[in-house]
Parts: sequence; structure tokens; C-alpha cells
Amino acid sequence: MKFLDHAKIYVKAGDGGHGCIAFLREKHRPKGGPSGGDGGNGGDIIFIADSQLSTLQDLSYSKHYKAERGQHGQGNNKHGKNGNDIYIKVPCGTIVKDSASDKMIVDLVNHSQKHIIAKGGNGGFGNARFKTKAITAPRIANDGQNGEEKTIELELKVIADVGLVGFPNAGKSTLISKISNSRPKIADYPFTTLVPNLGIVKYDEFNSFVVADIPGLIEGASSGKGLGNQFLRHIERTKILVYLVDIDSKDIFNDYELLKKELEKHNSNLIERPSLLLITKLDLLDNNLPDELLLPNDIEVLPISSINNFNLNKVVNSIADKLNCN
Ligand code: GDP
Ligand code: MG
Repeated sequence: MKFLDHAKIYVKAGDGGHGCIAFLREKHRPKGGPSGGDGGNGGDIIFIADSQLSTLQDLSYSKHYKAERGQHGQGNNKHGKNGNDIYIKVPCGTIVKDSASDKMIVDLVNHSQKHIIAKGGNGGFGNARFKTKAITAPRIANDGQNGEEKTIELELKVIADVGLVGFPNAGKSTLISKISNSRPKIADYPFTTLVPNLGIVKYDEFNSFVVADIPGLIEGASSGKGLGNQFLRHIERTKILVYLVDIDSKDIFNDYELLKKELEKHNSNLIERPSLLLITKLDLLDNNLPDELLLPNDIEVLPISSINNFNLNKVVNSIADKLNCN
């Protein structure tokens, strides 16, 4: 199984072209001056954030990127051509780290934000640059500099306003498919959703928010059990948490406490965020919440059904209210 929110790649910017040693040769000037042109600069490797992308999938297919080198300078003061830059598109929310030092290079948050990840080498000077009064025919030129090379690690941290938090099969993907424009894969088994899906929910003519369907959180996820730990960090950037618990659960109160505990172990700030608890699949009980059900009283609770749209408008409005209060 492969996770697409992590990638490790090698990048090498282009080397600079060498400067040239040459002298003018013209019929009427037998001893022409130095005319070696400079080398061209090597191409850069540039990352650019693109809101159309939602995974690092493309980067997991090709792991080596090499930008073009600069051409060498030539006689007649001809400058070598610069190497072309390589642009690599990554999803918004991609954090780029230097693998060797483990230091962050950049956090690409906004659409079309760019960063030079590896700088191309400068071209070397040709001998024409070294001419002085004393030395009229210099026989020196610089080599081009090497382009930067490094191994980098990329990590995608989803940027969403709202994170859906629930055990596998709680109904997260179905809910997001109902309230947003996103259409994640839905199946009747755990861990269907391996990539966090983002959905845009338009709640009035001008306003919308982004929901992240964060895949299967299970008990023990914060200590690395199941797939949850891989995804817990996606929740960090959300402003609002929506917990989902299946009405079929044996103990709704306890499930909610377990979810909270998992989040708290990962990052204790998480459970301080505005949140909402949805009891899902109420159609199974004809949309009636049993009176005797024990419910938590530290959170707003809404019974819903994604199948028959029960209370889905209320979910959207409640989230919008909480966002607007922030
Ligand atoms: P996720 O793992 O939390 O993303 O859960 P899914 O959205 O994939 O749903 C898991 C299963 O529950 C699927 O078989 C869905 O069809 C079913 N399901 C989801 N929402 C509802 C609902 O409102 N009512 C009923 N009866 N089933 C639902
Ligand atoms: Mg799902």
C-alpha cells in the first residue's frame, strides 16, 4: 500500500556553462582581442503550488529531476544559452524539507506560490572579461559553477477549514459527497479513502468552505496503529472539527471520547477547536434519536442521515456559523 502524501525525490539544477577562450580573427586585424563569451546559467528546479492538485502522486512516479545545463560560451563573444528551468507542480499545503539536514526549505501554501528548490550554477566568464590594459590577450576563462543538488522530502498537509473525524465506515466520505462538490470513492470496507479528499461546500451565493475527509482514524492511531497516524497531521490545519459516530455504534458516548483522546494524544490543542458531533445513518432508525441514548454535553450534537439528507443543511449552517465566529 502506498501513501501519496509523502514523497522523496532527488533534484539537480543545471551546471553553468564554461567561459570560452577565443580571439578575434579578422582580415584587417591580424591580432584581434579576446572574444571568448561567457557560459550560460544552468536551469533552476522550481516548485510551484497548484490548487488543482490534491496528492503528491505524480512525484511518486518520477523521482529524479535534472535541469538543463547552460551551454558553454563561444568565440565572437557569443554567450552560451541558459539552461531551461524545470517547474514541478505540487499541491497547496506541501512542505519541502532538505533530507540531509531535515530542515524545512519552504511551505507552499498558496496557489501559484513558487520557490527555487535547487539553483542552477552560474556560467563562467569568457576570456573577454579578463582583458586589462596590462593583459590584452588573457588566456583564462572560468568554468561554470555546479548546479545545486539535493534529496528532498515532501509532505502534504491539507489545508482545509473543516476536518471530518471518525472511525472507518462512520460515513465521512458519503457526507462529503452529499454536501460538497467532491466525489470521493465510497465503499463498504474500512480504509477506502487513502488520500485525504477535499470538498468545497458552497453555503451561500458568495461563501464556501473546504472540508477534508480524513481517512480512517482508529483507536491507537496516534501511536501509529492502522493508517490514522499518517493522516492525523492533516487535521492540524483545520479550524473546525466535525466528529462522526455511527448510530450503530455500541456506545456513542465512548466512541466520541476515544476519537477525542486520539486527537489529544497527537496534539492537545486539537480538541480545543470549535467542533460538532454528528450521529450518522439515522435513516436506520427512521430519523429518530432514541430517548435513552447517552450523549456528551460538551459539544453540539446533530443526528443526520446522508442517505435521506436528514439535517444536512443544519450541518452546513452550523459549520458556517462556527467559521464566521472565528
Ligand atoms: P467512511 O469510512 O467514514 O468514509 O464511510 P463511508 O462514507 O465510506 O460509508 C461507509 C458505509 O456506510 C457505506 O456502505 C455507506 O453507504 C454507508 N453509509 C454512509 N452514510 C450513510 C447513511 O446516512 N445511512 C446509511 N444507511 N448508510 C450510510
Ligand atoms: Mg471514507
